[in-house]
Amino acid sequence: MRGDDVIAAAIRDAITNHVTLRIVGCGTWLDAGAPVTADAYLTLKEDSGIIAYVPDDLTVTARAGTTLRELAETLGANDQWIALDPEGDDDATLGATVATCSYGPAAALFGTPRDQVLGMTVVLGTGDVIHAGGRVVKNVAGFDLTRLMIGAWGTLGVITEITFRVRSRAMRKDSMAHMRRPFPASYGFREPIIVNPRLSAALKQRFDPAGILNPGIMREPQ
Ligand SMILES: Cc1cc2nc3c(=O)[nH]c(=O)nc-3n(C[C@H](O)[C@H](O)[C@H](O)COP(=O)(O)OP(=O)(O)OC[C@H]3O[C@@H](n4cnc5c(N)ncnc54)[C@H](O)[C@@H]3O)c2cc1C
Repeated sequence: MRGDDVIAAAIRDAITNHVTLRIVGCGTWLDAGAPVTADAYLTLKEDSGIIAYVPDDLTVTARAGTTLRELAETLGANDQWIALDPEGDDDATLGATVATCSYGPAAALFGTPRDQVLGMTVVLGTGDVIHAGGRVVKNVAGFDLTRLMIGAWGTLGVITEITFRVRSRAMRKDSMAHMRRPFPASYGFREPIIVNPRLSAALKQRFDPAGILNPGIMREPQ
């Protein structure tokens, strides 16, 4: 199934023939949500590809069947990314990720798909094609249909094309784990340990360069 017109025609046929449709991306998460009983599948996976990508504008538009992996590879070539890291499969589709408002840990900093999507094309259950939002970062006007569709789980329409806000990758990435390990029971309290020595020193330098706060309490792991 490729192209808005083809999808719209399929939906109109389904209306005429009283056939219910299950929208399917890659199909990795069809068991999630309330059970769906439908007569036929409307599969979007083949309707994939990047439609427009302007690295300097920090926007990218892709068909809904494009996979998270494919988009990451395209953007990665310019040290860019979209801040979406949902649990599941890298071959999951953008349409499903947005339709289910799926997100991962990056949402704590960058927000959910509602904060990453600038606009989209949707084929409604009537067969009408609508365009919501836009392809630029500043485009808020009127009733926000884009956000309405995000998280609607395909109950209002088939998302066919999506424009995302793109971000530059951080020039440097570090991870820090801050673990607490018990002292011998007789002490009755716990000892904090920073497990990345390089970060430990960098943090200390940044936040307490004179080394006056609780000196010695942070220990490198044995
Ligand atoms: C093991 C596993 C664990 C996961 N855990 C989490 C989690 O913890 N948190 C989280 O947020 N997400 C989670 N997800 C969800 C997952 O990250 C996304 O939803 C994923 O992108 C699904 O992609 P898909 O193409 O396989 O979707 P599909 O399984 O094909 O579809 C998922 C749903 O989206 C609908 N849909 C698909 N495409 C469209 C479209 N174009 N327009 C409208 N509706 C559409 C389908 O009808 C279906 O209801 C998990 C997924 C898996 C496989």
